[in-house]
Amino acid sequence: MASSHAEKSDAIVIRQADFSETSKVVTLFTREFGKLSTLAKGAKRLKGPFEGALDLLAHCRVVFLPKHEALSLLTEAQLVTRFRPADHNLNRVYAGYYIAELLDGLMSERDEHVPLFDRSIHTLDLISHQPDLRKPLVLYELALLEQIGLLPILDQCQCGTPIQPQTTYTFWVSQGVLLCPQCRQPDIPSRDISGGTLALLRMLTSGQDKLIDNLKITDHQYKEIRSFLNSSISAALDRKPRMLSMLNVF
Ligand SMILES: [Zn+2]
Repeated sequence: MASSHAEKSDAIVIRQADFSETSKVVTLFTREFGKLSTLAKGAKRLKGPFEGALDLLAHCRVVFLPKHEALSLLTEAQLVTRFRPADHNLNRVYAGYYIAELLDGLMSERDEHVPLFDRSIHTLDLISHQPDLRKPLVLYELALLEQIGLLPILDQCQCGTPIQPQTTYTFWVSQGVLLCPQCRQPDIPSRDISGGTLALLRMLTSGQDKLIDNLKITDHQYKEIRSFLNSSISAALDRKPRMLSMLNVF
C-alpha cells in the first residue's frame, strides 16, 4: 500500500524529541489514524512552519505524508488549543503528562481509537480547570483500558460467580481477573478490592454520564480504585508510569 498523498487529521502532541539541528520527531495521537510518529522539519526554528502548534499536549490539525516503514512527514500543523492548566498548577501539568505517557506507551502505531481521542481532548480540558482531578483521571484510565481490551471483567470472579457487594475479592494483577474467597490462592501476587468498590467501577464504566456525574466516591474507595488502576496500568505498560509518582491523586 504505497500511498504518498497527504492525509489530514486532528491530533494531540504526546511526545517530542530533537532529531537534528532544526528538526524534531513528534509523536501524535491522531483522531483518524491513532498513534503516529512524524518528522517535523524546521520545528526547532523560532519562526518555524509550525508556530507553537507542536507543544506537548497541544490539540492541532495536521497534514502529513504517510510512510509505512519510516516516520511520516509532517507538512502542516495548525493549533486548535494549547494545554494550559489553570494557575500554572503543577499537579494539573503532571496529570497532562501522565495522559501523554499512557497514550505513548499503550497505543500502537496506526491503530485508530476515535472515542478515546475525543475523550482525551475532553479530559485534558477537565484537568486544566476542575478542582478535583481524581474522577476525570479515573474515568480516563478506565476508558483507555477498555479501548485496548485490558479492562478486567468487573462483574464476576474467574469461576463465574457474580460479584457480591459485601465480599472482599482479590485482583490477580498479571491475569487481570478477580478472585472470590473460594478461588483465592495465597501465593499469587494480588490486591484486595471490595465488592462495593467493584460495583462503583461498574457504574463508572457504564457510560451513563448523569449517573457518573452524581456519584460520590469516598477516600477509601478512591484508594482501592487507585490501587486497582495503578496495578492494571503498570501491568499493561510493563513498568510503573513515570508520572504516577509525581502526581498527587490520592
Ligand atoms: Zn471464584
